[in-house]
Amino acid sequence: MRSLQIHVLGQGSNVILASFIDGLVIIPQGQHCQWEATDGILHDWNDAVATPDCTSLLLHVDAGVDWPSLVNRAAQQGLWGLENLALIPGNAGAAPVQNIGAYGVELADVLEAVHCIDIASGEHQVLSVEACELGYRSSIFKGAFSGQKIITTLVIRLSREPAPKLGYADLEECVKDPTDPYSIADAVSEIRRAKLPDPKRLANAGSFFKNPVIDHERFQQIEKAHPHIPHYPAPDGVKLAAGWLIDQCGLKGYRSGHFGIHERQALVVVHFGEGTVEELLHFSDFIVQSVEARFGIILEREPRMIG
Ligand SMILES: Cc1cc2nc3c(=O)[nH]c(=O)nc-3n(C[C@H](O)[C@H](O)[C@H](O)COP(=O)(O)OP(=O)(O)OC[C@H]3O[C@@H](n4cnc5c(N)ncnc54)[C@H](O)[C@@H]3O)c2cc1C
Repeated sequence: MRSLQIHVLGQGSNVILASFIDGLVIIPQGQHCQWEATDGILHDWNDAVATPDCTSLLLHVDAGVDWPSLVNRAAQQGLWGLENLALIPGNAGAAPVQNIGAYGVELADVLEAVHCIDIASGEHQVLSVEACELGYRSSIFKGAFSGQKIITTLVIRLSREPAPKLGYADLEECVKDPTDPYSIADAVSEIRRAKLPDPKRLANAGSFFKNPVIDHERFQQIEKAHPHIPHYPAPDGVKLAAGWLIDQCGLKGYRSGHFGIHERQALVVVHFGEGTVEELLHFSDFIVQSVEARFGIILEREPRMIG
């Protein structure tokens, strides 16, 4: 077994799978959720046992737990922290890999630590959130530790103190009760359902490209030519909306063969069935070249290739 290449998968919602995968595919199945008492003892997090009424709660979540179900459950129990990350498809174990984020919140805001198995040594390791090097859609699991660890459990800190984060895009106007995290999770889910194709009906990997971050000087040049360009502050420059850039190239709804750009969200590449990975990569190159020709910005692909 040790000579086989190991590939770790969750629900496969952020990967491009080769038609043949050489090696061993591991899909962590752990389904436990536990909360940690002040004495460090873990208790099952289920509806039969009440969690303590303290202001914050540490949850230990196994890698195989379905992320959207976790978010809903926490929000229904009045725990704050995950509500803006509602309806992001996938398993908990994949969440640190690209530091999942949506509506102004990232996993990094609540993550305390990650338990993993080192594939080479078989050793159980605990990495602090700092050691995970979480950034915009990135982490050490995509960098120095790429392909080296199997994430088994996340340790997440949630709070009972209301902390609504409604500043992103159209969220505030859609939330019925900003004092209830479930109301926020519900509004986020509604917005997402309206904007994004359901991967179970129309295959897609969510955002196909990362939102590019450019320096201020370059941004000023682009803004002169495109005064209405959406942009957001980023720690190392200005973040642009990749979907907007693609849309400006007239590609929203564009289809070529078995692949296309979604008609409502230009950041999502959709797969109509059949075709090949090579065809998908060719399609993706065409989008990258179109954006580069118009804006001089090179888009970077978000989903990873497996196999
Ligand atoms: C419609 C749609 C909307 C989306 N919206 C968002 C969004 O708003 N924000 C966002 O950040 N992402 C979004 N995504 C991307 C995706 O939901 C996340 O990346 C999610 O975390 C992937 O989970 P998964 O279980 O499907 O992982 P997979 O796709 O199976 O795997 C993703 C990567 O993580 C690795 N991996 C998975 N599990 C483990 C593990 N236990 N240990 C080590 N490595 C592991 C895999 O090797 C792979 O490299 C969206 C995707 C879709 C289809």
